[in-house]
Amino acid sequence: MFDKILIANRGEIALRVIRACREMGIASVAVHSTADSDAMHVRMADESVCIGPNSSAQSYLSIPAIVAACEITGAQAIHPGYGFLSENAAFVQVLEDHGITFIGPSAEHIRLMGDKITAKETAKSLGIPVVPGSDGGVPDIETARKVAAEMGYPVIIKATAGGGGRGMKVAKSEEDIEVAFRTARSEAKAAFGNDEVYIEKYLQRPRHIEIQVFGDGKGRGVHLGERDCSLQRRHQKVFEEAPGPCITPEERARIGGICAKAIGELGYSGAGTIEFLYEDGEFYFIEMNTRLQVEHPVTEAIFGVDLVRQQIKVAAGEPMEFEQDKLSIRGHAIEVRINAEKLPNFAPCPGKITHYHAPGGLGVRMDSALYDGYTIPPYYDSLIGKLIVHGRDRHEALQRLHRALGELIVDGVDTTVPLFNALLQEPDIQSGNYSIHWLEKWLEKNL
Ligand code: ADP
Repeated sequence: MFDKILIANRGEIALRVIRACREMGIASVAVHSTADSDAMHVRMADESVCIGPNSSAQSYLSIPAIVAACEITGAQAIHPGYGFLSENAAFVQVLEDHGITFIGPSAEHIRLMGDKITAKETAKSLGIPVVPGSDGGVPDIETARKVAAEMGYPVIIKATAGGGGRGMKVAKSEEDIEVAFRTARSEAKAAFGNDEVYIEKYLQRPRHIEIQVFGDGKGRGVHLGERDCSLQRRHQKVFEEAPGPCITPEERARIGGICAKAIGELGYSGAGTIEFLYEDGEFYFIEMNTRLQVEHPVTEAIFGVDLVRQQIKVAAGEPMEFEQDKLSIRGHAIEVRINAEKLPNFAPCPGKITHYHAPGGLGVRMDSALYDGYTIPPYYDSLIGKLIVHGRDRHEALQRLHRALGELIVDGVDTTVPLFNALLQEPDIQSGNYSIHWLEKWLEKNL
């Protein structure tokens, strides 16, 4: 097992990894930008290294600075968290060359899934059902027109290199296709430096259902059920739950089984998430994320497992402690993402936290790097906390969420807490009856 791990991230996810390290008796190294010298992850880690100025391009995304920090401190492995370098195959390659272990899958698997067209082809070849769409990239508007006409409108144009909901445009009819195609391409070029796009059938009222998978890198794969992340704003998740309110045990076993088998066949190592759209009882693969997800705690809650601990174990070459027939679900969990944002426009709202009080009690977990007097810097993501609740069933989880939101105090900045208080009053949220478009429609009407 490793003696020392460097965490190439910040905020709540850095704390999440530091906590797992401490429980396993592993020393932790935090890295930080100058803007983060007072941040909680720096205070909580055993050691810390400043790796650059405020901008993430020059700090949290700087591969030379992070490798240097590893060499100075003698850390043997790096946990990337999510975002930043977590799905950067070039980074993993550099670490391999320096004899540093990456806590995650191989560069080859990251590359395979990072390109969405290749990912879809791979998924298909492994027996995973995919969204109907173009065969690979669509090079020009004439081809786009032809593909869309054959498939039938509406269609969605997506960036091959896509992520974070960018480079995605819907065309409702033939009239929209040209503008949608060109905008998706230019957005993709600007965001990812790659303007390749592909076309998919646009599903009208699907749910976003994702399967948590785990591989030992030696041919064994397991699944830890699904998460429903349908409540989204601009293709970004805001509220996640497990198990999915509409998924039956039979469906879970079927799709989970397909995913676990695929992960084993791939020889995949560590945690991953296979994302699907789900409509009328059918699953359609959209992409695979080769890292720990923001919403992983809802899975941890219902299965009673520590996913980060398993990631570290597998990366160190120890056996994976998961066995499919010993994994069982207990109760229901919900996570809400608390962002420092001002409603109704969700404008980022960085600033000084004059008072912070985390909720507690049975079945409540608050993952956050906030503290009294902390100043949220304006340079990074606006996620400041995740509130996760666990109950015996969905109804109890909702009641607990309501209670915990009432206890939470974040003074000094605006947050998305009022949104969740309002959502909890909605009959559709109470009954679990929502698709990926529900929240956008609700926001239009209510905010
Ligand atoms: P990203 O990597 O940018 O997050 P995804 O492929 O994971 O992109 O899609 C993000 C979200 O976009 C999905 O959860 C869903 O809400 C919407 N979406 C993607 N593909 C489709 C589709 N074919 N039909 C309808 N909605 C889609």
